[in-house]
Amino acid sequence: MTVYAAPLADIAFVLDRICHLGDLAEFEQFAHADPALVNDLLAEAGRFMADTIAPLNPTGDAQGCTRHPDGSVTTPDGFVAAYRAYVDAGWGAVPFDPTYGGGGFPWVVGIALQEILTSANMAFSMAPLLTQGAIDAISHHGDDALRNVYLPKMISGEWTGSMNLTEPDAGSDVGAVRTRAVRAEDGSYRISGTKIFISFGEHDLAENIVHLVLARTPDAAPGTRGISCFIVPKFLLNDDGSLGAHNDVTCVSIEHKTGIKGSPTCVLSFGEGAFGDEGGAVGYLLGEEQRGMATMFTMMNQARLSVGLQGLALAERAYQQALQYSHDRHQGRAPGAPAGESSSIVDHPDVRRMLLTMKATIEAMRRLVYANAAAIDRSLHAADPGERAAATEVAALLTPLSKGWGTDMGVELTGIAVQIHGGMGFVEETGVAQHWRDSRITTIYEGTNGIQAIDLVGRKLTMRGGAVVKEHLTEAGELAGRLVAASELSLAGGRLLSSVETDGRAVHRLAPRPRRRSAGAPRRGHAVSAGAGDGGGRRPDGAFGAGCAGRSRGRPRGPRLPARQGARDAVLLRADRPAGRRARGRGLRWRRRARVRHRAPRSVAGVDPRLGPARRRVRDR
Ligand SMILES: Cc1cc2nc3c(=O)[nH]c(=O)nc-3n(C[C@H](O)[C@H](O)[C@H](O)COP(=O)(O)OP(=O)(O)OC[C@H]3O[C@@H](n4cnc5c(N)ncnc54)[C@H](O)[C@@H]3O)c2cc1C
Repeated sequence: MTVYAAPLADIAFVLDRICHLGDLAEFEQFAHADPALVNDLLAEAGRFMADTIAPLNPTGDAQGCTRHPDGSVTTPDGFVAAYRAYVDAGWGAVPFDPTYGGGGFPWVVGIALQEILTSANMAFSMAPLLTQGAIDAISHHGDDALRNVYLPKMISGEWTGSMNLTEPDAGSDVGAVRTRAVRAEDGSYRISGTKIFISFGEHDLAENIVHLVLARTPDAAPGTRGISCFIVPKFLLNDDGSLGAHNDVTCVSIEHKTGIKGSPTCVLSFGEGAFGDEGGAVGYLLGEEQRGMATMFTMMNQARLSVGLQGLALAERAYQQALQYSHDRHQGRAPGAPAGESSSIVDHPDVRRMLLTMKATIEAMRRLVYANAAAIDRSLHAADPGERAAATEVAALLTPLSKGWGTDMGVELTGIAVQIHGGMGFVEETGVAQHWRDSRITTIYEGTNGIQAIDLVGRKLTMRGGAVVKEHLTEAGELAGRLVAASELSLAGGRLLSSVETDGRAVHRLAPRPRRRSAGAPRRGHAVSAGAGDGGGRRPDGAFGAGCAGRSRGRPRGPRLPARQGARDAVLLRADRPAGRRARGRGLRWRRRARVRHRAPRSVAGVDPRLGPARRRVRDR
């Protein structure tokens, strides 16, 4: 097994050049977060995670968690002491509100810490991850009483959080939740039902667990609209804030899994009478009744970014291991090596290709995820309302990309690390297979990547009539133009241009457009976005849509390209094609589009208001 070293220089580069941490430190709230201090903080975190948390990664995988007959769960050897050290050092509090004991650092600094923690030990990192999400939900939706009771203990890490959405019949279709919540005379609620797959739903790391639970009140509307969110603590609190009676929440079993074996995945039963008979577990409404999805979305969006980060963190850990192995392992003679030499496999071009693929993709993943987190910081704390609004849109656009692409790449890259190890990668001895197994869940939980795609296409690409993503593509097109102009990077620039062109074409086809025959009338279900984006044949994005301005009510004629340097190169590339082929290609595209329309008027679930209720529900997951 190799040691883990936090990639401090790479992280510092992204914080400085992509996230502009120095600018964030000029916000009033972050005045103390100057880059030099942040770099010192991360260096210390790197030492702590490498020394204290990383060594428990293979042992946690080998040992897993244990559920006892009384429903209690113990984590692998060493986890309790390591968690105590983590809490004592205050790592979990760094990005939270100082009013409740937090460090008041930007969220992107919290993300950097989380990367290091997750690379060190993903299973262990699940407890702080879920706690962070619960803190965020309570901060945004709780009243002062709830905040004062729960936030200080959760921010310090003395209590952990859990997220309870999934039920046997409610996975992606969260609107099918059946857990019941009945209001009691004192204003609290009685919760009864079963939740499955609850990460750190029961464990021995902390003295209390704050479950956030989705449930349905008796007269609630069907589907996601009728869901409410409740705080259900494992231990109820006495008037003086000390821990009181055990709430009626029981861990009925834990799962035997492919990976993250040190993270207990629990089936929780609420209100089955195992602890007292109050007619259900005692819960407290968080936010408004029947607005639970909005509350839980605060937690889920945060968790989605964190799960995207898991893809990056595991890929980084696997890369470090593969790089080390490729130096140590000798096989065959590399091109140019002296006769009779047994070369390190790192000298073989194919192994280099794999390593470079990993390294380059990891760099891109880190830029995406950190840019996403910095956008969240700006959306919450920028002084200028315009900057806040723009950053909110960017964060919304990037979240399904961070989660979906980040985790797809996490599985891909950890798989490449196994490949670099050859047969030793497939056996457990080297430990690299653990990263691959651990990564496999990331494309599944927090909304499967299929659900992320639906979110991206159905909600995010259509934001402001498609203008948000087009602004993003315009920027990418400009960058591509600059790369093409710099001769040593022209190949990368050309590839980026080609991607921007393809994406632009896809976005254009997906953007809501008014129907031709009802001139000016917005499409059903797209009143706002169509009106704001395409209405009257004018597009809000001068640059990206410039080529098509004035004819948006008709069918699209070819892709809309970035208007500046990069776009000109792309246009020239296209113009190189013979005129006959261009015309033919256009005609074919049209016919193909017509056929697709005939088969499925709008093939994207989540966009079409005509879809049945069951399919509409997944938009909310
Ligand atoms: C280790 C682990 C930890 C977890 N932790 C938690 C937790 O802490 N809290 C919690 O609440 N849940 C948790 N989960 C549950 C997890 O979020 C769900 O497993 C996930 O949301 C998928 O639901 P499902 O398993 O029911 O799959 P299903 O919803 O049955 O999906 C099966 C397949 O169908 C696809 N699919 C389903 N519906 C659609 C659709 N409308 N359109 C297109 N494709 C669709 C999916 O993409 C997937 O490929 C955890 C799960 C695991 C395994």
